[in-house]
Amino acid sequence: MTHDTTPSPRICPNCDGFASAAITIGGRDRHGQLPTLTIDCPACKGLGTVPARRVREGAGA
Ligand SMILES: [Zn+2]
Repeated sequence: MTHDTTPSPRICPNCDGFASAAITIGGRDRHGQLPTLTIDCPACKGLGTVPARRVREGAGA
């Protein structure tokens, strides 16, 4: 009974699923546009979910 179904990923508690956030730096570049930085959640690396159990690397998908 050690093998159960594949654990479903959970919503990352660190970012609550919002893994990537685009932030404006403030100020415009020489092209007159607002440069943005896309920050990925370090906890889930931009996935928005964390594996329910320890999985080295998601080889699925
Ligand atoms: Zn996260």
